[in-house]
Amino acid sequence: MYSRGVTGLSAYSRESNQERRPRKSNRVQVWARIRPTSQFAHNCLELNQDGRSINVHMKKDGRKGVVNNQILDWSFRLDGIFHNASQDHVFGNVASELVTSALDGYNGTVMCYGQTGAGKTFTITGATENYKQRGIVPRALSQLFKEIEERPEYAITVRVSYLEIYNENMFDLLSTLPESWNQANPEQQMVVVENQDGVFVKGLSHHIAQNEEEALNFLFEGETNRAIAAHSLNKQSSRSHCIFTVYIETRSRVQSNARYTVSKLNFVDLAGSERLGKTKSEGKTQQEAMYINKSLTFLEQVIVALADRRREHIPFRQSKLTHCLKDSIGGSCNTLLIANVWGESPQLEETVSTLRFATRMMCVASEPSVNEVYDPAVLVKKLQKEIQYLKNELAMHDTLTNRTQITYEPLSEQQRYEIRQQVRRYLEGSLEDIDIINIRQIQGTFEGFKDIYLQMERDVEERLRQKFTLIDRTDPAAIAAAQQAGVAITDDGTLVGEPDGQGFGVGMAPKVAKADPSSVVQLKKKEREKDRKSRTGRDTKSPVGGKSISSPSQSAKGERDIKSPHPSEREKRDDRDGEAPTPTSISGVSRADKILTSTPPPRTEAFEEFKADRGSEINRVLVENKQILNSKKQSYAELARQVNSNKVEIDRTRDRLEKYRMEREDNGPQYNEEGDVIISEEEFFEIKRLKDFKMQYKSDFEELKNLKAEVQYCQKLVEQCRQRLVQEFDNWYSESFVGPSEENQTSQAHGHGVRPGVQLPFNPSSIPEDEHEKFDRLQMELLMNNPDSAAFYNAQMRTQRRKTYETAMSQPQPSFRKSPGTPTMSIRNKPPNMLQVSMG
Ligand code: ADP
Ligand code: MG
Repeated sequence: MYSRGVTGLSAYSRESNQERRPRKSNRVQVWARIRPTSQFAHNCLELNQDGRSINVHMKKDGRKGVVNNQILDWSFRLDGIFHNASQDHVFGNVASELVTSALDGYNGTVMCYGQTGAGKTFTITGATENYKQRGIVPRALSQLFKEIEERPEYAITVRVSYLEIYNENMFDLLSTLPESWNQANPEQQMVVVENQDGVFVKGLSHHIAQNEEEALNFLFEGETNRAIAAHSLNKQSSRSHCIFTVYIETRSRVQSNARYTVSKLNFVDLAGSERLGKTKSEGKTQQEAMYINKSLTFLEQVIVALADRRREHIPFRQSKLTHCLKDSIGGSCNTLLIANVWGESPQLEETVSTLRFATRMMCVASEPSVNEVYDPAVLVKKLQKEIQYLKNELAMHDTLTNRTQITYEPLSEQQRYEIRQQVRRYLEGSLEDIDIINIRQIQGTFEGFKDIYLQMERDVEERLRQKFTLIDRTDPAAIAAAQQAGVAITDDGTLVGEPDGQGFGVGMAPKVAKADPSSVVQLKKKEREKDRKSRTGRDTKSPVGGKSISSPSQSAKGERDIKSPHPSEREKRDDRDGEAPTPTSISGVSRADKILTSTPPPRTEAFEEFKADRGSEINRVLVENKQILNSKKQSYAELARQVNSNKVEIDRTRDRLEKYRMEREDNGPQYNEEGDVIISEEEFFEIKRLKDFKMQYKSDFEELKNLKAEVQYCQKLVEQCRQRLVQEFDNWYSESFVGPSEENQTSQAHGHGVRPGVQLPFNPSSIPEDEHEKFDRLQMELLMNNPDSAAFYNAQMRTQRRKTYETAMSQPQPSFRKSPGTPTMSIRNKPPNMLQVSMG
């Protein structure tokens, strides 16, 4: 019967079937079964006492000639040998546990190999007409359904299929059943398909079996359909491989688990393994025999490859048989091979060949594992439940922390809109803080920022397009058009005179292509005129008219000097322009309309004027800092001298003391009642002096260290001031006098001309720098260029300083052995104690 029911309901439960049974060994199990016969070759076949090894002695085959290197004696050791064993014994010993394992989720395969007539079919299927002689499959089905009844806590579904492979063609042995007609298209050839769930045969019908009887019906139906070829050795024997498969799906009834197990049990009745010469087949049968051998040869190759653990590629796809069995031999599958042996003397060669195959199979690794599957529908339900639980948990948390009315649902359109408005107000400055409520709101806020940012970008480009004609530098057609229209632009889109540019080029497109009649060229002309007028209207030799509105620094129209130190002037400039501010600095457009013509004054000259006027404040601070630095250095030098002379005094006192000591020892030491040495008043005096000197020395030395730190700090300040002065001068200078000829000299920035805030490598010679300052600056620069070298330079500097100290101290200091070597330690950690230097 074919139906979609669930099997395995029973009133009582099984204990201890939950635990997974580990397999005894991690390789394929191989047994031999000897077919009972009255002509058993006792003199050739020797079964050992251990019940698992067999020796084969062959007689020299006269047909193969006098000289042949036939091996005559063989010894095979397997996992066990069934001799005169009943069907029941065979099943109970090797197959029964595979059935139980299958219910636990492990795949299992029982395979019979051997020559035709050796008893493969007898072992797998058995004599269908005799209940006692029934084979492994009927017994397995019987046990399966019994065990299912003993597992009422599981809903277990059993399906079966029966496949025959004959001459590399696959046949569905159950296709004769009416329910198969819906499942498979008889016209369509069956194919072996692989996916993440394993290997299966597409087009092969699967049939649900609710009980043992239904399952057996499928087996018998298939048996009668088996293709049987007439054969000289055994009329019942077949040339085909037959695979009866039982598919088991196990779900727990007690736990609503998304996880369930699937497993399959394969029972493989292989075709006869005899060689073609023996069969004496002719015509069609001969062809069949060749096929049999071929597919068994492929099986053997697969076994050899599987046995070699270094092999990565296993040739499963070479034949239908091996492809079908890809996930059923070794690997994660419990695999059992039964080698069927026909123990008569004419069959000795086949016996040896069968047993050789069997021993080879013993090398195939097998590490069975449970096949677990997750049911997405059940999983979704489970996760939904979990989400609900967490939401409740959150709600409770919010209540406890007085956070009310917070929802955790996805944001609605309205909420999104409100968050965006909030971001807008925040950006405008009318909202001080955006309160964080939950993750969704944070994400919404970021989205708001992104939207506004993208909108701004579009606006900027739009405005640029309104004001200028933008040429895409990557578009040769646009460049050509611009060139035709007379714009001084090179073929790679760079404006003539412009350093290597990036982004949009600014130029002039043909008149027809323009959206706005106020072209760049016209604009520039106007500006240059304005500029020229303003220049001629004042003393050109004194370009430092910093505060004059007509200063060239302010004629750089469109330039938005964000970091300008004089914002008020910039504002004035914008007012004067009387135009909507254009954010040109974003794309570097400002370069194009900043071409000035007059000759700038020499930089040194301009610098002097800059210091006197616009840079006077910072110059004053610099001068002041330098004075402080000098005085600190002086005090440092004085103190160092004092420390030195102190040291000399200490040494002298020591010498004197030494002299007293020697004198005393020469005269013979005198002791008082307590046993102390009596010393002279002079010596006592000297000792006291030494103590005082040492104390003085110690405190002076400490002070010296502090002073050193202060000197270093001042030096840094002076350097900062100097840099700032130079930078501001350079900004001012390039703003005021930048021209194409001088640009390269002053600017390092590529493509965007001089940008505010960019430090330029100009070091006016007018700033004196002493040796110390120079050394420190060079160190600094080196470090800036290569931060990884910090450790190296620090070490170098330390050594340098130590040398300086040592020279100053002239001798090593015995009483402060630790300190003099590492003066920088305390300097680094301790801030200077009394500094009034400020940047103003
Ligand atoms: P194969 O499938 O390997 O070609 P069969 O299973 O058809 O061989 O066996 C050939 C004959 O030998 C059958 O008639 C079968 O009943 C008989 N036979 C095989 N093995 C046994 C056995 N262990 N006990 C009794 N009869 C057997
Ligand atoms: Mg057979």
